Amino acid sequence: MRNPLKPVLFKPYLLGATLILGTTFSTAHAMAQTIDAATTTLLANPQVTAALDAIKADDARALKEQIRITEIPAPPFKERVRGDYILSRFHELGFKDAAIDAEGNLIARRKGTAGTPKLVISAHQDTVFPEVTDVTVKEKDGTYLAPGIGDDARGLAALLSVMQTLNAQKISTVGDVIFVAGVGEEELGNLRGMKALFRDKKDIDGFISIDGLGIARIVNQGTGSHRYEMTFKGPGGHSFQEFGLPSATHAMGRAIAKISELRTPSDPKTTFTVGTVSGGTSVNAIASEARMAVDMRSNSTEELLKLEAKLLDLVKEAVADENKRWGSDKMTVTIKLIGDRPAGVTPENSPLVQAATHAVTALSPAARVTLAGSSTDSNQPMSLGIPAITIGGGGEGGNWHSRNEWYKPVNAYIGPQNALLTMLVLTGLEGVTKPMLPTRH
Ligand SMILES: [Zn+2]
Repeated sequence: MRNPLKPVLFKPYLLGATLILGTTFSTAHAMAQTIDAATTTLLANPQVTAALDAIKADDARALKEQIRITEIPAPPFKERVRGDYILSRFHELGFKDAAIDAEGNLIARRKGTAGTPKLVISAHQDTVFPEVTDVTVKEKDGTYLAPGIGDDARGLAALLSVMQTLNAQKISTVGDVIFVAGVGEEELGNLRGMKALFRDKKDIDGFISIDGLGIARIVNQGTGSHRYEMTFKGPGGHSFQEFGLPSATHAMGRAIAKISELRTPSDPKTTFTVGTVSGGTSVNAIASEARMAVDMRSNSTEELLKLEAKLLDLVKEAVADENKRWGSDKMTVTIKLIGDRPAGVTPENSPLVQAATHAVTALSPAARVTLAGSSTDSNQPMSLGIPAITIGGGGEGGNWHSRNEWYKPVNAYIGPQNALLTMLVLTGLEGVTKPMLPTRH
């Protein structure tokens, strides 16, 4: 992990005086204009307008695809059945070399005329729902209800719509596009799919994840998190007979008291909480075991690691204090990492953010672009210093990660249109525009 750029770069009034990735404000400004010009040129190109029209015409079919995908369960670590279906769709759409990697990611490369830059566009296969969950899609007054219908079945459907359109319209990009349907985005998946992808492929220049719905929200800050389960263990015994032994609940109480006093920066936002506690066997027993789960988050890897080091020290201190109190050495704590998502940031003036901003504005003039922080597959490339954003797949919805998740296909086609246009700006259209995504190697 490396230290990401400080979010201070998001304050526009500071940009003029700050060096960003070796780029000064004036060249960043010039680039934005070039991206603006490239977007305008592409929107005036008949092949591009035909492709955007084709995506709009594909709207109803894409929704059917989304429903079909939703109804194939994809619990964490068990994405394979859904993966097999999507791989078959990759093949049907003409991506004959599409294959599944060792982790379970589906990868389809579409060669450009120059072979660089290399841009990944992805969506995630997995849901948060266990195998037993009923994933049948129910429709009521134009609203579709099912766990995972939006997150991320919409992203997968949008991805397939873009892939279909590129081939059907015989669009020739300058850079390569690597389409990925990834695994392990949610919960204890801990981004295992993207960790594997970026371990295996060192030549990726940019990354777009389609996850979430509304296109006006562009995620350019990856909130990192570390989560721990801590188990305090001691001898335990009768509260009266064996008084004088260290207690697991007391040790944990000491730890929580110390953790509560921690101070963290508000910018970059850095947070902690002892989320759950359990332990003890009865009211008249010195507890032999107590357990807590701790969540730490930050928009900066550096701050996350600082917080983590402090917090883990405090927990060990609490155990030592409890032992000292009773002149014992019997109290112990085992600390298990159960969540690990790296943090990172893609600067506002990055070509990815600029390209997506221009595409959103062009396709949906009423939309007001907001840049946001979230934990998505983009965290992984961001933490490696590879520019990455997460964009919406189109439509409206809510109740994420709940059994009442809903989706309404309001102008849903703008999602894949936005992905396609952003992609073309970044990879370039052969004979029409140059790639706006810099090659990193
Ligand atoms: Zn998601």
